[in-house]
Amino acid sequence: MLAAFATAAGGPKPLDNLAVGDRKVPDPPRGAVRLRTRAVSLNHHDLWTLAGVGAPSSFPWTLGCDAAGTVDAYGPDTAERLPPGTPVVANAVVTCGDCEACLGPDETSCQKFAILSDGGWEGTFAEYCVVPAANLFVLPHDLSFEQAACLPTAYLTAYRMLFTKASVRPGDTILIQGAGGGLSTAVELLARAAGVRVIVSSRDPAKRFAALARGVDQAVATGRSAAKEVMELTDGVGVDAVIESVGEATWATSLRALRRGGAVVVAGATSGADPPADLRRVFWRQLRILGSTMGTRAEFAALLATLKATGLRPLIDSTYPLAEAKRAFERLDGGEVTGKVVMVSG
Ligand SMILES: [Zn+2]
Repeated sequence: MLAAFATAAGGPKPLDNLAVGDRKVPDPPRGAVRLRTRAVSLNHHDLWTLAGVGAPSSFPWTLGCDAAGTVDAYGPDTAERLPPGTPVVANAVVTCGDCEACLGPDETSCQKFAILSDGGWEGTFAEYCVVPAANLFVLPHDLSFEQAACLPTAYLTAYRMLFTKASVRPGDTILIQGAGGGLSTAVELLARAAGVRVIVSSRDPAKRFAALARGVDQAVATGRSAAKEVMELTDGVGVDAVIESVGEATWATSLRALRRGGAVVVAGATSGADPPADLRRVFWRQLRILGSTMGTRAEFAALLATLKATGLRPLIDSTYPLAEAKRAFERLDGGEVTGKVVMVSG
């Protein structure tokens, strides 16, 4: 089968570690299901893997967290909950299923938490992929495979950041650091669908203009005056929550743009992970700093219900055949995306 995989990790040019070629169709183990993959989406996680962050222990190693496709075959002694041929989207979160966290309300605290393409699971960027059978969700009939493939990482992460971690309510105001990326557009669309006022920041005037054209309420230039501008836009109060995935380049603004008691929710640090903590501001203004990674199965179900109730559809930047994975990776790595980069097979 055709697959996009890492042949190594790290080095000066991580994209050189990406190969596209033939790999053996995987056999699903006990408790797992094989999907005929129809669409996948790229995440920064895939670039990090090529760069050697959380790199696999053996090569070749198929990349990819997100997949939508059809049920193909089950592993031995595995309940065939959905008949072969059923269109599905796969939750990318892998947990042990029987620890205290897994039996409680938040299985993302499982000690064995991993996502597809990490740990013992190869990824989804192939004509067939294997995932835990418990991770399947039936694809809503009005959602395309390409749209569904955007959900498991970016949209689930966005859902949890907004509604679980920041607990935003209709009428709240949020600041999204960075405009146009897969996660930031996911947050933007979900927030607007929920009646939340959205301010985005970007250093790129074209990205700010595009965000306004998509319907965000305000766009500010990243930099020294960004926090002041956000304060002016919120009558000197600050925003209820900041959605942070940029890190060092925007962290000072994130803390300064918050209202007293507001929350900054962090799900990434693409520009660096070690900014000054500014602890005086944190305690004096009683700021909350909340880490967030992926989401629970219940949040995945709620995300699908939100799409159904609002008509919201993921924003897709571009779609490539799996055979052109190198171009797709270059597109994401170039940083000029508006929405998700998707690949399709067969
Ligand atoms: Zn567990």
